[in-house]
Amino acid sequence: MHSDDSDGDCMLSDCESDDNEFGEESDEESDRVLVKMDYVMRENIYMPSDVPIQFFIGQCFRNFRQLTWAIKTYAVENKFKVYKYKFEKSRVTVGCNYFRCPWFLHVAKTRFGQTFIVRRLHNVHTCQRDLKNLECTAEFIVAKFAATIIEHPDTNVEWIQSELRRMYGAKIHKYKIYRAKKKVLQRQGADYESSYKLIINYAQSILTKMPQALALVKVFRMHGQQTETHFDNIVISFIALRDGFNQGCRPFIGIDGCHLKGVRVQFMH
Ligand SMILES: [Zn+2]
Repeated sequence: MHSDDSDGDCMLSDCESDDNEFGEESDEESDRVLVKMDYVMRENIYMPSDVPIQFFIGQCFRNFRQLTWAIKTYAVENKFKVYKYKFEKSRVTVGCNYFRCPWFLHVAKTRFGQTFIVRRLHNVHTCQRDLKNLECTAEFIVAKFAATIIEHPDTNVEWIQSELRRMYGAKIHKYKIYRAKKKVLQRQGADYESSYKLIINYAQSILTKMPQALALVKVFRMHGQQTETHFDNIVISFIALRDGFNQGCRPFIGIDGCHLKGVRVQFMH
């Protein structure tokens, strides 16, 4: 059929970012399409869960993204590398990359929106399963553990490693998990950076509305950086509170400080 030593070009992981190319629809559109489908097809729509995936003829997928994710998860669960015969807008045919293993799956687009249906399936593997689990890429780990890592940035790499072993029997090297964790935190960090950029706008709005107020933003430059600045601190003083304290007996509230959790584990004071 095909050799086991083909290069990474055939791996399913390469297709993870192709969604836009296939014109993904919104969840609402997808729901409207499902209503139009006949009863049997609707009953056979794949529902993601923690239970190992089983493909069957007549099984339907909402869209290309759901289909590729299901194939990917199935490959990780069953420890084989996917070979792509056809990966097109209207049909997907994949097999097991192992030499002479007969497993294959053919899925075609239906006439209902972006949905796909399993047309042919040979659900037998004769290969020896690969404990390295090549389809369990850093991107797969990101997708599986992103929510946990964002909520608990100090999530132990060894814990993720043992979870991957428990869930998929996959022996994944720590470095791959480090890479995945770093990706999640970097993506999350990008959101933090865009939030910090809004602080200048916030200070400017205060001064526009209340010219007598005080809104000072202190920034600093890293060594060697000419244009890029980094947030250091902000001081805000509203005129009513300032005058109230100076001229009357308005109480002054002092805030001590707090430990920040999340991507930047720091102390705010
Ligand atoms: Zn196989």
